Amino acid sequence: MLDKVLIANRGEIALRILRACKEMGIRTVAVHSEADRDLKHVRLADESVCIGPAPSAGSYLNIPAIISAAEVTDAVAIHPGYGFLSENAQFAETVESSGFIFIGPKPDTIRLMGDKVSAIQAMKESKVPTVPGSDGPLGNDIDENLRIAREIGYPIIIKAAGGGGGRGMRVVRSEASLPNAIAMTQAEAGQAFGNNMVYMEKYLENPRHVEFQVLADTHGNAIHLGERDCSMQRRHQKVVEEAPAPGINDRQRRKVGERCAEACRKIGYRGAGTFEFLYENGEFYFIEMNTRVQVEHPVTEMITGVDIVKEQLRIADGQPLSYRQKDIEWRGHAIECRINAEDPKNFYPSPGLIERFHAPGGPGIRVDTHIYGGYFVPPHYDSMIGKLIAHGESRAAALARMRSALDEMIIEGIRSNIELHRDIISDAAFAAGGTNIHYLEQKLGL
Ligand code: ADP
Repeated sequence: MLDKVLIANRGEIALRILRACKEMGIRTVAVHSEADRDLKHVRLADESVCIGPAPSAGSYLNIPAIISAAEVTDAVAIHPGYGFLSENAQFAETVESSGFIFIGPKPDTIRLMGDKVSAIQAMKESKVPTVPGSDGPLGNDIDENLRIAREIGYPIIIKAAGGGGGRGMRVVRSEASLPNAIAMTQAEAGQAFGNNMVYMEKYLENPRHVEFQVLADTHGNAIHLGERDCSMQRRHQKVVEEAPAPGINDRQRRKVGERCAEACRKIGYRGAGTFEFLYENGEFYFIEMNTRVQVEHPVTEMITGVDIVKEQLRIADGQPLSYRQKDIEWRGHAIECRINAEDPKNFYPSPGLIERFHAPGGPGIRVDTHIYGGYFVPPHYDSMIGKLIAHGESRAAALARMRSALDEMIIEGIRSNIELHRDIISDAAFAAGGTNIHYLEQKLGL
């Protein structure tokens, strides 16, 4: 097994990775910024290295500092977690060329999936269902672009090939505004992503966000762990996730999941990954692939019993997957609430000292968090401070457990979105299942 792993991340996911390493007898190196000396995983790691100042540009995004830390501590592998450098092909390449194992896919795969046009092309070749759209990037022939849009049918959406984080997209509802919309998206994409390539897709008015978890090893094995519904979003940020997705039947799950696994085999995928789809009127439409572990991976772990992070470590060590597809069974239902240090009404970040923290517990409850009473939430990073996950034999049972757990949870000193979660979990439409990606913003009157 890997001898020593450097965790190139912070917060709850760094702690999650540390826990998996410890259980597997792998030694750990925590790297942290000057603002993060008191992180729980820094205290628990076998070794720790300060890699720079609080702003992430100088620390968690500082490739030379991370590589140096791996060198001085004799780490053999680097786990990037999510966010930060996790989907940076150049980082993965530098890790490998410096003689370390990158716990994730090959740099070329990250690049292939990081460009949405090439990602969609790869999906089509594996018969993964995609959104009706232009065949590749748009050219400069206006008449041709008008023709493509007419064929797809309005509304359409113009998207940047290099876009991310919900940026670089424009919805077009009429022919008259198409040429200008293409030109503007191209210009913005060039500015923001250094790549002005754009493409066109059918705009789905009221879809849900449903994604499939996959695992692939270096021996040609790939499996899927079923799907998650992450439709409860605000500003393209997921707020609540669940597995399985309400209303998806076993036949559909196996069919789409197998297509995803097949795509992994075809592109030589390695590690954990997620295929994101929009789901509308019973159909799946691929939008993008995330080549890393996701925030919401625990809901899948709760219903399958598979430890996704441990599988990532095994795959990186060159071992075959511990499961075959027929070993995977889905049991009950799991829901995750992302706990953010933010004002529940205006969503402003609320960093500061946590004076008191009580975590809920009991059967079926899981809390993934790095916070503790006396911990200071620094203002420099994402406001997510933890995840509360509830598992039950049925969706109703999971909801009841979540409601009770939210009532038990106490965070004092800073503001948090626990109140918002209480509201969502008790919402009649959410309880019925299958609300779409606009539901939360509509509910909040945004
Ligand atoms: P990013 O990489 O920026 O997250 P995505 O391609 O995943 O970009 O799209 C982000 C979000 O934009 C989706 O979750 C969805 O809400 C919306 N979106 C993207 N493509 C479409 C589409 N064809 N129809 C409707 N909404 C879309």
